[in-house]
Amino acid sequence: MTAWHAPPPLAPNTLDDGVPSSEYAEVMTPQAELIERLKTLLGPKGYLHEAMDVEPFARDWRGRVGATPFVAMPSTTEEVAAVVKAAHEAGVPLVPQGGNSGMVRGSLPQNEIVLSLRRMNKIREISPQNDSIIAEAGVILTQVQDAAKEAGRLFPLSLGAEGVATIGGLVSTNAGGVAVLRYGMMRDLVFGLEVVLADGRIWNGLRTLRKDNTGYDLKQLFIGAEGTLGIVTAAALKLFPLPAAKMTAMCALTSLDAVVPFLPIAKSMSGGAVTGYELMGHQGVEFVLEHVPDTRFPFTPAPEWSLLLEMSFGREDGARDTIEAVLAAGMEEGLISDAVIAQSDAQSLMFWKVRDSHSEGEKKDGRGVHHDISSPVAAVPDLIRGAMAAGGQLVPSARFVAFGHAGDGNIHFTVKPPKGLAGGMTEDEVVAIHDEVQHAVHDSTMRLGGSISAEHGIGMMKRDELAERRSPLEMELLRTIKRTLDPAGTLNPGRVVK
Ligand code: FAD
Repeated sequence: MTAWHAPPPLAPNTLDDGVPSSEYAEVMTPQAELIERLKTLLGPKGYLHEAMDVEPFARDWRGRVGATPFVAMPSTTEEVAAVVKAAHEAGVPLVPQGGNSGMVRGSLPQNEIVLSLRRMNKIREISPQNDSIIAEAGVILTQVQDAAKEAGRLFPLSLGAEGVATIGGLVSTNAGGVAVLRYGMMRDLVFGLEVVLADGRIWNGLRTLRKDNTGYDLKQLFIGAEGTLGIVTAAALKLFPLPAAKMTAMCALTSLDAVVPFLPIAKSMSGGAVTGYELMGHQGVEFVLEHVPDTRFPFTPAPEWSLLLEMSFGREDGARDTIEAVLAAGMEEGLISDAVIAQSDAQSLMFWKVRDSHSEGEKKDGRGVHHDISSPVAAVPDLIRGAMAAGGQLVPSARFVAFGHAGDGNIHFTVKPPKGLAGGMTEDEVVAIHDEVQHAVHDSTMRLGGSISAEHGIGMMKRDELAERRSPLEMELLRTIKRTLDPAGTLNPGRVVK
């Protein structure tokens, strides 16, 4: 066996996530011997080794750059198991990766070998009778949505990255998205899992039972574990009836506070038909219209606060009357000042495009300090105002982007430097105090009984904050679970818990 050699430290950390570059050097490079073994195991189609080929796997959606010497690309569960076993025996860390669209540096390698699940891309089974689908880890979310639709069913998970995010990644981050208030998060959509354990054994928990109270619910451990406890190779997922009609409206709210009382009105008047309830501040809309091609918005200028309301109905009759009545009630109550109901699928898609392009528009404008915070739904206005006050104290005249899933209490919040303001902080200066800003925003979130990561997870970015925010007992339990399932620490080390 060749000796370990420490990796060269990566370039100084100029990223916006505040993890010091010195920490990268703690992670060891894999042994050349293991790489040779993996090449033999996987054959020429099953790996990438050239610098040019592995580079895309070491760069995430936000443009953050890591490094990896080797990407293993198994195409079957048995091959995944063989890779994991070999790494376990060599004591070499692996970073599982799906679409690499995660936001918290969970899948971005810091000199570890990448275990890419993208070649595990088969839909194994679909049963409209049982309302279930079994998809391998590398299947892209839109492929599952399309397969369900072809079978006359709905897979309801939906999010801005659905064209790249994979089932394995979505399970491992317990993804949320835009339909959580009606269908729940990924955790609520999983019947069962197939998982390769840290030592390479395969746990087949691919059941499609709606009722199963046989001991501890093991799959829950792997959902949201961000690849630190096992490698998800396939998931059995729940399907639903396709709605017969969908109605989408863009609303101008009279104030931020209006977002809270309008929700129960919309829910009860529609008999629970609300499937999308997305809040957008004017700054985010303006970034989208400025930076994302082919986007249009029904109001000029963008209102201080807009709301994208979507309702899904089992019958077409009465769908339009219902949304009209809901909007009229919102206006009568002084909660909505204006509203446009999409007249066609194209118009509805345009409303959603503006909403879904928020991260892209904001990214194209430049860097900032990002947050994925939540509070009880009734406290969303206070969540946003508190975050703005906290960010504004550290970044005078900051611009704020606040948008997201107000219907389930989750707001994406970014602090950006002022633009063109004499005497304001520059982008570099704001990024330099990233941790301070994030801490202040998270403090304000916690005062409302909220969460510092509503749906993106912990990764490396929020690991230290997690340790600070959770009680010592909770951290002890989390670490006990990690040590039990991955005693050698070879699965995604340094993410979630240390
Ligand atoms: P990756 O980014 O590759 O990995 C994510 C984590 O899971 C990493 O820790 C990785 O190690 C681990 N992992 C990946 N595959 C496996 C596997 N098979 N087994 C074990 N561990 C694995 N997220 C939301 O929740 N809601 C949103 O609304 C949302 N909107 C987004 C919009 C945009 C534009 C973008 C870029 C991202 C958005 N995200 C959102 C974040 C992201 O899409 C999700 O976190 C998604 O679940 C990541 O899937 P992925 O396949 O890209 O996983």
